[in-house]
This record gives sequence, structure tokens and C-alpha cells, in this order.
Amino acid sequence: MGWTLLLCCSLLVAATGASADSSKTRQAYERARSGYVALAERDSDVDDLMEWEQAASSLLIFVREYRDPDYTPRALFLLGRLYEFTYEKRRFQTGLTRATYFYESLAAQYPRHSLADDALLRLGDLRRDALADPDGAQQAYTAVIESYPNGDMLEQARSRLGIAAGEAAPASMPEPTPSSGLGLFGFLSGKSKAGKDSKEVFSRSDPKRRPVIVIDPGHGGEEDGAIGIDGVKEKDVVLNISLMLEELLQDRLRAKTVLTRRTDVHVPLQERTKIANDHDADLFISVHANASVYHAAKGIETYYLDNTNDKSSLKLAERENASWQAGGGDDLSFILSDLIQNGKLDESITLAHYTQDALHESLSRYYRGVKNLGVKKAPFYVLVGAHMPCVLVEVSFIDHPVEGKRLATRRYQKLIAAALYEGVRAYFEREGE
Ligand SMILES: [Zn+2]
Repeated sequence: MGWTLLLCCSLLVAATGASADSSKTRQAYERARSGYVALAERDSDVDDLMEWEQAASSLLIFVREYRDPDYTPRALFLLGRLYEFTYEKRRFQTGLTRATYFYESLAAQYPRHSLADDALLRLGDLRRDALADPDGAQQAYTAVIESYPNGDMLEQARSRLGIAAGEAAPASMPEPTPSSGLGLFGFLSGKSKAGKDSKEVFSRSDPKRRPVIVIDPGHGGEEDGAIGIDGVKEKDVVLNISLMLEELLQDRLRAKTVLTRRTDVHVPLQERTKIANDHDADLFISVHANASVYHAAKGIETYYLDNTNDKSSLKLAERENASWQAGGGDDLSFILSDLIQNGKLDESITLAHYTQDALHESLSRYYRGVKNLGVKKAPFYVLVGAHMPCVLVEVSFIDHPVEGKRLATRRYQKLIAAALYEGVRAYFEREGE
């Protein structure tokens, strides 16, 4: 859901009363929660981490889409519990970081909610037991005692600090320093955190300014990407397409273009968005070719960055993200930047629709049965932290017997580059309106 829509909905609520909407909120929360509860019963040893990520995604989506003073903190608490559990069972380090993070966020953002002191107590226990941070633990317990003297966690917090019932807390306890919430929950108030608005910069304040477009050919170097039926490599195909696209954008749109790689080299995923940010780009387009388990899937799909609980999108993101995980990428910074990127969510979705439509239309003109798999969302690391509208295009399935053969030809590659160009042009034309 884009911000515009979200804003409209909340205005509607203000005008018509919140009763219908609050039951919708509760239902959405219950759906996300029951997914988690069922999973905890089904997979109590956390054998399938992917499923747990999926359950977390559902909760996270709820957190993002509903800003409810009661249910949002509940969902944050469940996220904390969920990740804490993955850490307990699997020693999943990311689970530990995330659990801490969600408890901190809850306590900082919803200090008046009845779960705030529960979150602080859990936070204290994690710091004490898992993070070997006795000072941090003490701060959390102290915060429970001082800020929630009537809460149900009071006695537990006191006993953690070795204070007997009825005894006064030592005066020398350090002041609790509640987390700032890491600035992340700006997204809850719907505020854009990212810098400039490309609409203003590109077409309003200076119509003659040339757009800066960063094209990102996926993979490269030792990382082949998906492999086609005749051994064709994704990294080679997408580089060809990217170079062709660059030429079109320069010639026809007078755009300044930057490629994240021009040869068969490895470029870390973090580096790719950094290139885009450093160049103050107006758009970021990551070009990829798809593959499926049974080599039977075909079609075109375009992604924007978001959390999702759709299994196939998560699987795809997992594969495209592989090099990030292998490179020890920090998972938490992923969540954070992911949410910061939300400032450009609307524009990214718009761009995704333009490129997707252009691709489907162009290819359908030449080939029968081109499948439009649509615009989707997934947590792609390569789009994380980009301060501009950005999309990831899966131009076709390289391992499909028919599509893969086509994809290996210059003709098809050119067609795709031309279609992507069309999509970008249409996007900017609409921007200039
Ligand atoms: Zn790829």
C-alpha cells in the first residue's frame, strides 16, 4: 500500500468514524498473529527459518500498514518474541539483534502501552543473558521500576536487580536512557526520510537538468546468477541489456548514465546502491533474469523494495540476495534502510508499473503468450538504502526452454533494452506533467 492511499484511508476514518476500520485493524492483526502462533506450534524447533521470516514479514507488514496505538505495539512485541525464539532455538544471531531492536522500538515509541514494561524486561534479559551487557540490562530493569511502578513487571525487574520486596531502589542507579527508536519509525508517521524529491529536481526546478540514471546489471565476476538451458549466464545477458539500455537513454533521453559494472566483475550489493547515492541519481534500475525450480516458469516481473510474505517472492529475493549474505551483510541495517527507502515507495511502485507495462507490451508485439507476472514487492538487498525510486526487473526466465533461448539472442536483448527505455521515458514524461 502506498502512502497516498494510506493517507486517504486515514482521512476517511477521521471523517466517518473509526469503528469499521478498527475491526479491520484487529482482523489484520489477528491474521498476522495467528500465522505466528500456528508456526510456533508446527515448527517448535525452528527447523525452517524461512517460514519464520515469512511470519515475521506478515507482522512487519501489519506494523507498517496500520498505525494503531494498541495493535501496532502488540505486533512489535510479537516480532520481538518471534526473533527471540529463533535465537533461543537456533542461535540465529540476527534473531537476537532484531528481537532487541523490536523491544527497544516498542518501549520508545509506545511508552504508554501495557506491553512497554514487558518489552523492557525482555530487553533487559536479552542484554543480561545473550549480549553480556550487564549495564544495559540494569538500565532496562531500572526503566521498568521507575517508569512503570504500577506495572505487572515491577517485581520481576526488582528481583533481577536484587532488590527485595518493599525495599527502596538504590539511589545510584543510572538514569534510564530509553532508545530513540533509531529514527526508523518515521515511517509510522508516514514521513519521507529520504532527501530530495526527484520530481522537483528533475522536472520542476530545472527542466533542463539531465536525469541521472543508474543501471545495475545483476551479479558478475564469480557470481554467475541464474544459468540458462544452454549454459547461458544471467550475468552476461543482463550486462548486454544494460549496455544497450545505456545507449538508448543517452541518445534519446539525454540522460547521464552510470553502470554499476561494465565488465564481468564482482560488485558487492551494498556498493551498487552506494554508487547510485553518490551520483545523486534520479533512478536506479537493477536488471536481472529469472529462473525457477522446475525450469517451467516464464514471464516478466518487476519488483520494488518491500517486505512481503509471498513465498515465491521471498525465494527469489533469497537467491538474488545470496552474495549479500555470503559477504556477511548486516541484516539489521537491511530493515532500517528498507524502511527509510519508504520515502520513495510510491515513486518506485510507479516506476515499476511503467517498466513492467512497457516490457510486456513490447515483447507481446513480437511474441505470443508473453506472460505478465506483474509488479511485486520483495526484500531485495540491492535496492536497500537507495535514496531514489528504484526497481529490480526480472526480464524473462533464463532457464525456460523457449524464453531462455530467446534471452540468449542479441535481438531479444535489444528488445528488452528498448522496452526498459520506453518505461523510463514514460515515467519521466508523467513526472514532467
Ligand atoms: Zn539475478
